[in-house]
Amino acid sequence: MSIRLPVTSLGASLRRPRVCQACKRAGPRSRVTSISTRTYASSSSSSSSSQRSRPTLRFIPLSLFILPPILWYLSKDGASSTLNPAVYTDHTVKSARKVSEQHKEVVISLSPGSAETFAGGSALITPEKLQAAGKGEGKAVTVYHVMVKSPDLMIERPYTPVNDVKAEGEVKLVVKRVRGGEVGRVVHSLKPGDPVGLRGPIPTFSIDPSSYDRVIMVSSGTGIAPFLQLLSTLPASQPADGPKFTLIHATPPADRVDWVSDPSLIPALQSKHGDQLAVHRYPPNSLPVDELARAVKASGERVMVLVCLPPAMMRPICGPLTVTLQQGELTGHLRDLGLRSDQVIKLE
Ligand SMILES: Cc1cc2nc3c(=O)[nH]c(=O)nc-3n(C[C@H](O)[C@H](O)[C@H](O)COP(=O)(O)OP(=O)(O)OC[C@H]3O[C@@H](n4cnc5c(N)ncnc54)[C@H](O)[C@@H]3O)c2cc1C
Repeated sequence: MSIRLPVTSLGASLRRPRVCQACKRAGPRSRVTSISTRTYASSSSSSSSSQRSRPTLRFIPLSLFILPPILWYLSKDGASSTLNPAVYTDHTVKSARKVSEQHKEVVISLSPGSAETFAGGSALITPEKLQAAGKGEGKAVTVYHVMVKSPDLMIERPYTPVNDVKAEGEVKLVVKRVRGGEVGRVVHSLKPGDPVGLRGPIPTFSIDPSSYDRVIMVSSGTGIAPFLQLLSTLPASQPADGPKFTLIHATPPADRVDWVSDPSLIPALQSKHGDQLAVHRYPPNSLPVDELARAVKASGERVMVLVCLPPAMMRPICGPLTVTLQQGELTGHLRDLGLRSDQVIKLE
């Protein structure tokens, strides 16, 4: 969860929306200006004032055709504040509270129509892994993240809502403050009522739980966020022979608050999913090798393992993501346990 976006692509991804936004507002106006300037310039070569007015008159019918769509376009652009993966829109902080010394929970009320964008169809989503594993019945669930930008600096970072955004109409983020972290600092300074720029939703991964007897999720720290969202989004009542879920998550060091134990997080999901969700914790600064081995061995062939760990922990468990953030080869403990690469999804 700690990988930074490359500076160049970050710059490009931030620049593009800004240029588009600027073009949308300034472009049509500047096109109108340039038409009338050319008109004026060509007419200025004539000697009489009546001749000068004729080209201007000629352009009145033309502007009747040009102006209405431009005005419609400008008003549409200005009015739209719906969450969008391509451009930033402003939303409002509803609440902000510390859940540990390093972690802040920020709830952001979304503008009308935004929450529905979290229910993208499979045509929008379909990552390669879903296709590779997709023997299910088309009930794919997609986990999304959103981009948060710093208002002062030209940088953005991805954050994963820990809640069911579509059902609740708001985004709940838990953000860790890291030393020298720029966007983390911005998020930690947010107060109720503050505007916050969001871009998204962006699919992180999709999974069809009905394809599996058990889905195992392994994480540490804020790496649990995609799993909290997945479990929040899944319906409470799964069929008796439906998928079971195992969440394996690191405990924090003894002197840190275990923020995932907040009643709104793991305990709420345990009471929602009952026996279908098993939660196992493993000690900090260790690898969850035994917990994984137990969970995989207790599962049949139809098992999927989702891994969201820092690179140093992910490598021995299942091998690293590639430099271009592709899945790469399955190695490490999960391969030694007999899993195939289409039974593991590595998350950044
Ligand atoms: C898809 C995705 C979803 C994510 N979801 C979340 C989320 O829900 N909550 C969350 O808190 N983060 C999440 N992250 C990580 C987040 O995007 C940022 O990387 C993180 O908040 C640091 O950003 P920053 O601007 O504060 O610090 P930066 O300015 O990027 O980093 C400052 C310094 O801190 C180091 N650093 C960065 N991250 C960590 C870390 N985790 N631990 C220790 N040192 C670190 C950097 O290497 C750098 O030296 C997610 C990342 C991805 C790719």
